[in-house]
Amino acid sequence: MRIVLLGAPGSGKGTQAQRLTGIYNIPQISTGDLLRAAVSAGTELGLRAKAAMEAGELVSDDIVLGMIRERLQQPDAVKGFILDGFPRNLVQAESLDALLAELEQPLQAGLLIDVDHDILMKRLTGRLSCKDCATVYNRYFSPPRQEGVCDNCGSTNLYHRADDNEETIGNRLKVYESSTAPLIGYYQNQNKLKRVNGIGSMEDISNAIQAELDKL
Ligand code: AMP
Repeated sequence: MRIVLLGAPGSGKGTQAQRLTGIYNIPQISTGDLLRAAVSAGTELGLRAKAAMEAGELVSDDIVLGMIRERLQQPDAVKGFILDGFPRNLVQAESLDALLAELEQPLQAGLLIDVDHDILMKRLTGRLSCKDCATVYNRYFSPPRQEGVCDNCGSTNLYHRADDNEETIGNRLKVYESSTAPLIGYYQNQNKLKRVNGIGSMEDISNAIQAELDKL
């Protein structure tokens, strides 16, 4: 299965992508995670990406496309992949189509997780992640059972992402509207758009996504 998950920051793409990897046994490829790893490792690419990420702007297409080209050619992506956070604009979507045509593995669907703006703000400002096992919580909607402690691995290393403050979030949502939302029309024109309502329990959303993907 080769799909792109589309949706605003906070729509639940990352969480749903994680669940789907378990169900379909294919990797989740997140350019945000790849970029954050490069920033933490202090690589040259990370240094080039850092300022744009902290401001909630898009990192330049050449950095992201280089990273994706390399990642899609890793052996674990042969069976398929779930792209999360990529493409983020039309140039990236067209480049992805060209790359996948070269690899003879065309995309099967762009799946949009639809969520309204106010809920996105709460989801983003409340988000907490575990540094040790990557479990994601939300202080408004799904806090850990004991404050500050990961339910899954017991770590006390729960952190709030540097780009999850209100100003950066506002900017990320604007960037989504202007650069990324046009991809909805792009995949619609290719007859590849699938849409699910992103409000509800994680299970319900996950089931709605699976129902769409099982039709592919
Ligand atoms: P995310 O975790 O997907 O929300 O990404 C966090 C940040 O990384 C974004 O706000 C951008 O600065 C950068 N980023 C992630 N994916 C891309 C992409 N496909 N193109 C450009 N910048 C990206």
